[in-house]
Amino acid sequence: MSHHGHHHPPRAASAAVAIPLPPVLGANVLVLNKFYQAIRVVNVRRAFTMLCKEMAEVVHIDTDEKGHSRWQNFNFESWQEVSALKAEFEPDGFDWIHTVRFQIAVPKIIRLLVYEKLPRQDVKFNRRNIYARDSNKCQYCGRKFPTTELSLDHVKPKSQGGRSSWENIVCCCLKCNVKKGGRTPEQAHMHLITKPVKPKRSPVINIRLADERYQSWKQFLDNAYWTVELK
Ligand SMILES: [Zn+2]
Repeated sequence: MSHHGHHHPPRAASAAVAIPLPPVLGANVLVLNKFYQAIRVVNVRRAFTMLCKEMAEVVHIDTDEKGHSRWQNFNFESWQEVSALKAEFEPDGFDWIHTVRFQIAVPKIIRLLVYEKLPRQDVKFNRRNIYARDSNKCQYCGRKFPTTELSLDHVKPKSQGGRSSWENIVCCCLKCNVKKGGRTPEQAHMHLITKPVKPKRSPVINIRLADERYQSWKQFLDNAYWTVELK
């Protein structure tokens, strides 16, 4: 895979799409491997880079009134043509990239045409995934905070033998963190609003699935075996 520095935007292989693209806030694209298995989620820019370099194609799913879905695969050029129709008839169904020359719909799903190893089966134990699992909510006072105002709390403190694990680490606001100090919730007379567990799949994916724009991801994610890593 090639590397792109900040000063050298990737060159489009086909039509000259105006990359770097303007950011489409919050839009994500599900990436499938050749065998239609979900492997990760990428941002819009990364998705278009892969499309332009013909490393990936768009998998578009249309669902009719009877709930039957039809899959169609498009390369970058044909997706541009489809986009022109979508812009006219279902502009609300997509996020849009506006370039000087044209607008193009942000695909929901792309499929890699190149070889990719099978997805990892474990959700990575890291700060981002813990925050996502807890929806950025302090697990003691239940209030939502920006990431900068949250910290990670060992439910059973390290000093008392508490481990760093999915089951013993939660999001905690700074105020509650100070209040709790080096004590267990019982000792501090504080209560966890949810029991911390290891997520079955990437919490970031769960957040997206709650958004109806990402319904088409579902069929690729129903099998809990395919947990996805955000890159
Ligand atoms: Zn709190």
